[in-house]
Amino acid sequence: MITHIAVDIGGTRMRAASYTSDNLTPIKVNRIKTRKKNSTPLKRLESLITSVWPEEAEVAGIGIAVPGPVNSATGVIEKAPNIPELSGLPIASNMQAAFNVPAFLGNDANLAALGEWKFGAGRGHHHIVYLTISTGIGSGVIIDDQLLSGARGFASELGHTMLLPDGPLCSCGVRGHLEGLASGTAIAKWVAEQISKGVETSIAFDSSNQELIPGIVIAEAAQNGDILARQAFKRAGRYLGQAIADFLHIFNPTVLVLGGGVSQSYALFAETLYETIKTHVMAPEFLEDFTIALAELGDDVGLMGALALARESTGLSYP
Ligand SMILES: [Zn+2]
Repeated sequence: MITHIAVDIGGTRMRAASYTSDNLTPIKVNRIKTRKKNSTPLKRLESLITSVWPEEAEVAGIGIAVPGPVNSATGVIEKAPNIPELSGLPIASNMQAAFNVPAFLGNDANLAALGEWKFGAGRGHHHIVYLTISTGIGSGVIIDDQLLSGARGFASELGHTMLLPDGPLCSCGVRGHLEGLASGTAIAKWVAEQISKGVETSIAFDSSNQELIPGIVIAEAAQNGDILARQAFKRAGRYLGQAIADFLHIFNPTVLVLGGGVSQSYALFAETLYETIKTHVMAPEFLEDFTIALAELGDDVGLMGALALARESTGLSYP
């Protein structure tokens, strides 16, 4: 029996699971905290993989999703803002040496796109743009049945599309990127700003408090008809629509898959989003075979992406 191991490394916890080649239900699954005293994330990764190693089965490969840009040629995570201890480490070759099976590393958003393509909302499509909108905006692109990677594996950072040169600061430090205008963080910051200016709302907010208003609070207020909260989602929808019109011109996808916490409020900005895309697209033909779909894999998207990477990299076909 051939099996694969999938690992999803996050800033606070890492998960791993083993799968037979004909099934998406894991044989074994485990999760641990990414950090612990007297241990390194790499050591913890090794013991996590050991804990899901299947008995009496051959492991063909290990796929690992990491939060940061991955050099696809070397399997090194170049920069991990949430787990700086991993930056610059050859994680794939380390695991390969530790377990004596091939190991493959990918950026978590790119692998999420791969996962949704193989197992989720992108099934059957050959040209996909995947956006995950939560604290930030991550993305992955599949064109002609290939995950877009670029020279060093850094391609498809769609969250850093430039929309407003003098706009708000993005998490990357540059002004006016999509992420700084339409991510969950950007929505919460904009709402707080408006309240500080005296705009009326049902949202309770203490402007001396440095913490962001939780997304769920803004979403609930919008659902209950709060005008400011509704405007916040529409504003995000407009910026997303402008950027997506560009993505249609660049990639000509048949589906845009939307994931992440903000996508759960899709109904609050769907109309604005679609109208904005229509306004900015150069020709209506770009919309003819195009649909917008919500992501299907939820919290498992990282694991599913890592599994797809492991299976694909070891030449396995899909169930
Ligand atoms: Zn940016």
